[in-house]
Amino acid sequence: MGRIYFDHSATTPVHPDVAEEMLRYLTGKFGNPSSLHFFGREAKKAIEEAREKVAENIGAKNEEVVFTSGGTEADHLAIKGAVYANRKKGNHIITSAVEHHAVLDTCKSLEKEGCEVTVLPVDGYGMVNPQEVANAIKDNTIFITIMHANNEVGTIQPISEIGSIAREKNILFHTDAVQSMGKIPVDVGDLKVDLLSISGHKIYAPKGIGALYIRQGINWRPYNYGGGQERKHRPGTENVPGIVAMGKAVELAASEMEKENARLTILRDKLIKGITERISHVRLTGHPVTRLPNNANFAFEFVDGSAMLLNLDMHGVAASSGSACTSGTVSASHVLLAMGIPHQIAYGSLRLTLGRSNTDKDVEKFLELMPQIIERLRSRVS
Ligand code: PLP
Repeated sequence: MGRIYFDHSATTPVHPDVAEEMLRYLTGKFGNPSSLHFFGREAKKAIEEAREKVAENIGAKNEEVVFTSGGTEADHLAIKGAVYANRKKGNHIITSAVEHHAVLDTCKSLEKEGCEVTVLPVDGYGMVNPQEVANAIKDNTIFITIMHANNEVGTIQPISEIGSIAREKNILFHTDAVQSMGKIPVDVGDLKVDLLSISGHKIYAPKGIGALYIRQGINWRPYNYGGGQERKHRPGTENVPGIVAMGKAVELAASEMEKENARLTILRDKLIKGITERISHVRLTGHPVTRLPNNANFAFEFVDGSAMLLNLDMHGVAASSGSACTSGTVSASHVLLAMGIPHQIAYGSLRLTLGRSNTDKDVEKFLELMPQIIERLRSRVS
């Protein structure tokens, strides 16, 4: 069975060029970058070259890029590093209800440490209103974190507007750009951010590598201790093959982005049109226009997300649903609920995220298959 992979926001396969580059640093060029000898210097050079590639593509200086173990660690470092460094100034953090758990749970942990957290609501498209950010700012506000693009519904937030507000009030501003990197332009200057997180495995690099942009001169401090790696910002022997892969993946994404976006937008729009025309009681979730070019997210009435996923999987289609099954109970997505979608409809959510491997044939096949699956599932309910 030819399988269709529509889950690129969960993870992507490693690009062959990235794998090739990386392999060199797994076998021959294996040195520890802290070693003074040839092998060490070779590894160190590779890290600095990768750093330059990442920095160049997000509009940063080389020394403003710190490699991490992924998006989650980059989010933690950004949030805790900024909050701990500014605790004397205040203890209030602003975030949104649709953030990834890497951000929401970090904010929650800071709440337990005495911080006050404002979780801003979103509109029906999952969008944060910059005016509400401005209204939430108080004398003790020290940090704002709002994601660039949502991982479930693909809605792109007005980051540069929020950045202007934060800058005017002299408050540190972080964005989680894990899902937007490689799909839409990500430039730290244009976005007016102080900190920005990215992850390798969403852009055809392997899992376990990410990066955090930390604007030079801001009040931020590391909270892990050990060796002096990454200029003491993130101690620990560097994941050289992962870092090399990240540099290559960022470079490739930038060179292919314009063409690939145009291609994926056509496929995405065909999916959206096809599903909403062929199936009743279904709605597109997320913003109709201001959304990632590869994201189509639907809420189907009278069907359960997990049943849809299992049926699709049986037919060779890999997708994902916002509803998650933990310890035998199904919970609806916090993102969809925050957007005001009722529980029973949020349970029937389906996320299709396109990528390099997808073709028009995949979309055609899916559009043939999906109405049959929905009809079968709904007939069981009634
Ligand atoms: N932030 C967002 C928006 C994500 O979608 C993800 C992963 O799905 C993460 C953070 C976590 O990234 P990582 O898997 O690299 O830890």
